[in-house]
Amino acid sequence: MPIRDKSKKALALRFLTEIKPRLLLKFIFGAGVGNLLALQAFEKRRKEGLYFPPFVFISVTQRCNLRCRGCWAVGAKEPADMERELLEYIVDESRQMGCRFFGILGGEPLLLDWLPEFFIENRNSYFQLFTNGHLLTRCIADQLAHAGNVTPLISVEGLEKSYADRRGTSSGFAQALKALEICREAGLITGVAVSVSQGNFADVVDDDFVDEMARRGAHYLWFYIYRPSGADPNFDDALSDSQVRDLRQFIVTQRRRCRSLVIVDAYWDSDGNAVCPAAMGISHHINARGCVEPCPPIQCSDARLSVNCDAAALISSSTLLQRFRDEVPTLTRGCVLMDHPAFMVELAGRCAAADSSGRDSFFEELAARPAMRCHNHSGDPIPETSFFYRLAKKYWFFGFGAYG
Ligand code: SF4
Repeated sequence: MPIRDKSKKALALRFLTEIKPRLLLKFIFGAGVGNLLALQAFEKRRKEGLYFPPFVFISVTQRCNLRCRGCWAVGAKEPADMERELLEYIVDESRQMGCRFFGILGGEPLLLDWLPEFFIENRNSYFQLFTNGHLLTRCIADQLAHAGNVTPLISVEGLEKSYADRRGTSSGFAQALKALEICREAGLITGVAVSVSQGNFADVVDDDFVDEMARRGAHYLWFYIYRPSGADPNFDDALSDSQVRDLRQFIVTQRRRCRSLVIVDAYWDSDGNAVCPAAMGISHHINARGCVEPCPPIQCSDARLSVNCDAAALISSSTLLQRFRDEVPTLTRGCVLMDHPAFMVELAGRCAAADSSGRDSFFEELAARPAMRCHNHSGDPIPETSFFYRLAKKYWFFGFGAYG
């Protein structure tokens, strides 16, 4: 049994001492209760044959101030920003379907100067802001605190050396940490995201890294597995099968050991079986031009949203999304982009899906991908051993039976 370090503050105590009560209540009702209600509405719809995800992820811009190797967001020929009216419309339409929680991605979302004001005007929803942190000034953090309905998720790709390898600059690492400090000073509930790869595995799959992120102010730590994507994928940086297994074991162990923050993953259910959120239909991605994609790195679409369209009907009737849900679980419990890229080419063709990457090269990139292993690691599943996480995954997030 892992030994708990009692010298560190438990997360509940951190929430009470670090977060403004108004923001904490917003988080509990927006991200907590709101999500539960959204999942209940989703389950009810699903039984009626209507598919609209409870979690909507929206990329509000294709522009970014960084150019990380292997990122799906890099390389659009004419990078687009989402029209503010369209974002309003998507959020409103999604709320009609019971959604309360939205992931806001880019590019770098904070390149849109109207975004903080948008959050303030949409206090009836809760937003997770995916950011590299470079533009997250104290002024922006104060605006987010004023809005009260935003949790920044700052991407820190490991430690300084691995950050530099991924992003081609090490100076940004200090800026990401500075953003974390600014969020702490502003009293925001803040997360840190890490995309685990060969390059940073030793840095981040480590007790000290988890403790350091908590010490610096993170309330949750989201582990992603690096999926080489875009026009310049770095396949050599993808994790090996045994590293994925080690990562899974590490996450399970940390959930028992570290009381100071929540460890997030969206790859495994309570029993440790691999899952794909897009194949379960619980989340989809809408890009800056309104194209609905299974998830951010699968950049093709047969449904495009515009202001005043019937968003629910368009998403529910998307052939691509429907066949993705029906067929992917018969092939893999893991990531189809990694495990079966050739199938994804064929599926997109059968559904007459269009390239939505903005690079006009998504299908060639997909066809050139080698099949790799991802989170569906070999060997027995590694179940959750923490009561809380087990409960959350079993009854709230991954209990929808997409895999039969
Ligand atoms: S296809 Fe892969 S990247 Fe997309 S949602 Fe599924 S597991 Fe995640």
